[in-house]
Parts: sequence; C-alpha cells; structure tokens
Amino acid sequence: MHCPFCGANDTRVTDSRLVADGDQVRRRRQCASCHERFTTYETAELLMPRVVKADGSRESFNEAKLRDGMLRALEKRPVSAEAIEAAVERIRQTLRARGDREINARDIGESVMQALKNLDQVAYIRFASVYRKFQDIDEFRAEIDRLSQEPSHLSADVKSESPNEQ
Ligand SMILES: [Zn+2]
Repeated sequence: MHCPFCGANDTRVTDSRLVADGDQVRRRRQCASCHERFTTYETAELLMPRVVKADGSRESFNEAKLRDGMLRALEKRPVSAEAIEAAVERIRQTLRARGDREINARDIGESVMQALKNLDQVAYIRFASVYRKFQDIDEFRAEIDRLSQEPSHLSADVKSESPNEQ
C-alpha cells in the first residue's frame, strides 16, 4: 500500500501479529522511500444480509435489535451474559453463512427462537408467545405440550407462565 507520508508505493511490513482475539491483523510497515513507520489493521469484511420485513420493506441487519429482543425474553432468567453473547454470535454466523444478500425477518425470528430454546425454556416461551402471536390459550398450551414431548427439560416454571403476562 502507498505510504501515507510521501505517497511512495513501496512499503515494507516489519511486523505482523494477530490482535483482538485473532479477529484482526496488525501490521507495522515502513516506507522504503521516506522510512516513516505506520500501522495498518486488517479485518475481514463481514457483510450481513439485508433484512426483508413482512411488509416488504428492507432494512439493515441490526444486531442491537436482535440482542434487545433476546434480553427482553431472558429478563430475570438465570442465563449468563456470556451465554447470550455466544448465542447472538452463533445467530450472526448462521445468517451470514447462508450467503444470501437478503434474508426474511421471519427467518431471523426463527433463529432467535431456536437459540432461546437451547438457552432457557421460559425465555423461549415468552419470545414465541409474542413472536408467533399465539391466538389463544389453547394454542399456547399446545406449544407447551409439544415442548414437553421433546427430550431434555421443561421445568415446572414454564407451565406457570401464561402468554397474557407479557
Ligand atoms: Zn514514505
């Protein structure tokens, strides 16, 4: 790359190391012409697909919004911030891995539901009851029953929650 001091196009890398937990490469460079030193940082350009909303409008993928939705569902639940961040990161990676330029908001919602299902059943039910807009208590019960058929878990406190509490 060109030297930012004199514009010469011959610069030499004198040191190269991984930083930011390996997500970045930091390079020390020296200009062959004026001998000034400078640093460059290299990161992968991670483009998230655009989000297509139910009404057909498009918006940028918003990680903060996704996290907020999860945090709301996880309020007062015994799930660590670390586990939540890991789940957010997994969702991002999954969405990006599809390689699509656009993605339906609905698919993001489904990913969040899957993630919450693994993190905390109560949070999952909270999110699902809002997201899927369970029509009535029967539909809600049906989901609870469906969940309880699945191996692993379903603690008693899930059953005490009602979709009307939200
Ligand atoms: Zn230079």
